[in-house]
Amino acid sequence: MKGSENSPPAFNWDEWYNTVGGRTIKIAEVDAILYKIKEFQYPKFNGEVNKQQFAFENASAASEAIKQKAFELGADEVGIAEIEPSDIYNGREVTEKYAIVIGQRMLWRNFQEVPSNESAIECLRIYFSLGEVVIALAAHIRSLGYACTVEHPIGDSDVLHVPLALKAGFGELGRHGSIIHPKMGPLFRLGSVITNMPLAIDKPIDAGIAKFCDNCKACRIYCPAKAIPDERSEQAGKDHLGNYRYKVDTGKCFPYFAKHNYCSACLPVCVYNHKEWAKDFEGFKTKLFPAVNMLAAPSPVDPDIPKHVYPRIKRDIAVEQLDE
Ligand code: SF4
Ligand code: SF4
Repeated sequence: MKGSENSPPAFNWDEWYNTVGGRTIKIAEVDAILYKIKEFQYPKFNGEVNKQQFAFENASAASEAIKQKAFELGADEVGIAEIEPSDIYNGREVTEKYAIVIGQRMLWRNFQEVPSNESAIECLRIYFSLGEVVIALAAHIRSLGYACTVEHPIGDSDVLHVPLALKAGFGELGRHGSIIHPKMGPLFRLGSVITNMPLAIDKPIDAGIAKFCDNCKACRIYCPAKAIPDERSEQAGKDHLGNYRYKVDTGKCFPYFAKHNYCSACLPVCVYNHKEWAKDFEGFKTKLFPAVNMLAAPSPVDPDIPKHVYPRIKRDIAVEQLDE
């Protein structure tokens, strides 16, 4: 199955960093984790499949068993969705039918100040940790006699984790463009394993979060790059509940993200964090709301263009047509 023409092209970190003058985040712990991901996790995306296939009673039993294993391996949430062309990056192709989507939450205690070295390290820590979970789950599925592929939370993924997670019942899209889970809030990351193993799929949920977002603008107010919109946008298409999406301006977000420690300010300021997080507070001195460093947005790379324009689908339109 090929990616839809309307899907974005696969994310190319080097190309994106080049558009803002190169990667400038220099944190030794971050570089060490990135090295470990590339050297030790990337080679484990595929593997040998047991020739003897375990027969589950039915697809529901298989899904239950896989989910239980994922939780044992360290997932904080897991859901299963059927892959459609719109879930695949434009120009990519996958032969698998199902995505097992895994979420792992980041620790509130490391987002007390954003952007900061601590928040950047936490983002990478969870990418590595989540990578370990999806790699181990894929190895387990292969040991049961079913082929599968790892779609790592960072790197050259073929599928879009966010729409798959929405279909798999993780939550709803927030104004900040990230999924808000009814219990975990938005401070988590996603990775997937894709397979043709017959599985029962989950359903998207309506937990009233989209409606809540319409009346809350905390992330918009605290976004230092002013990338989060006031209104939903018809141009951005509809979410699984039929609401037009909020269209975060990646042309403003990404330069800030790239220059200021992966920013992520919109996640800890999200009002939905203040529900379950008390569990993380024990033994750690934390605040109910993070300090947000409103650092200056980087200047456009090309001074003749009033804002950054990235190699992204639908961004090849005339500069004067871009909304400010
Ligand atoms: S990551 Fe930072 S710049 Fe990007 S939308 Fe969130 S708060 Fe704004
Ligand atoms: S801060 Fe408020 S508006 Fe923004 S995503 Fe969270 S709940 Fe929605």
